[in-house]
Amino acid sequence: MSLVLKLDHIYKDYITPKLVVPVLHDVCLHVEEGEYVAIMGPSGSGKSTLMNIIGCLDRPTKGTYELNGVNVLNKDDKTMADIRLNNLGFVFQNFELLSRQTALANVELPLVYAGVRKRERIQRAKQALTRVGLEDRINFTPAQLSGGQKQRVAIARAMVNHPRLLLADEPTGALDSRSSTALMELFEELNREGVTIVMITHSPEIASYAKRVCNIFDGILTERTDSDRTRIEAAGGSNR
Ligand code: ADP
Ligand code: MG
Repeated sequence: MSLVLKLDHIYKDYITPKLVVPVLHDVCLHVEEGEYVAIMGPSGSGKSTLMNIIGCLDRPTKGTYELNGVNVLNKDDKTMADIRLNNLGFVFQNFELLSRQTALANVELPLVYAGVRKRERIQRAKQALTRVGLEDRINFTPAQLSGGQKQRVAIARAMVNHPRLLLADEPTGALDSRSSTALMELFEELNREGVTIVMITHSPEIASYAKRVCNIFDGILTERTDSDRTRIEAAGGSNR
């Protein structure tokens, strides 16, 4: 098994003109290829901050980070952007689709950045949309799609470059419970097909779809153990 993510002793402080805000404290997280990890924590606990670091969108104040064996923190911003494009797919709570563009054009976008030619872009974007069950919606704009469909477009966009790691920050945060369940089924399928997933959520129900759960509280990340599971189960909470 190879390690996709290797974060060690990560600290993150936000430096503002008036004060220093310490957010992440000594976070260590190792994720093997094929894992499906949920990171659970309340609002303000540092989930998005951690996700931005994993996603090469921000740098920690201290610590080391290897993505697919590559030390990403000593790279310049341009190289970081290339690493992002080639290794990672992102799904966000609010979809982050271009509102004036069709589903097809939204999914084509990472391929535009990757320099793929038009004809191949269209073919691959159509394939990705078919994979998420939207082959009959390719020319719809986000306004013409439901929340669940918009998130499927976002997943097609995240997967069109065949990244090894899918990062999702509260992917069901804006969805009703039926669409959330459908989305979690899609994540399970992608994971079965070999995609490594790291998903952030504040919902125990959603976290229970992952094979491994970590908790984050006040910037401290801990692994959920079997005894935690038993306790949650005993309390009647979600546990699959
Ligand atoms: P979560 O995603 O778990 O809700 P965040 O990672 O967004 O939490 O935020 C964690 C903490 O960091 C919060 O207290 C937030 O106010 C603070 N924070 C986030 N971004 C910044 C920033 N750019 N500058 C200063 N503080 C920030
Ligand atoms: Mg957040």
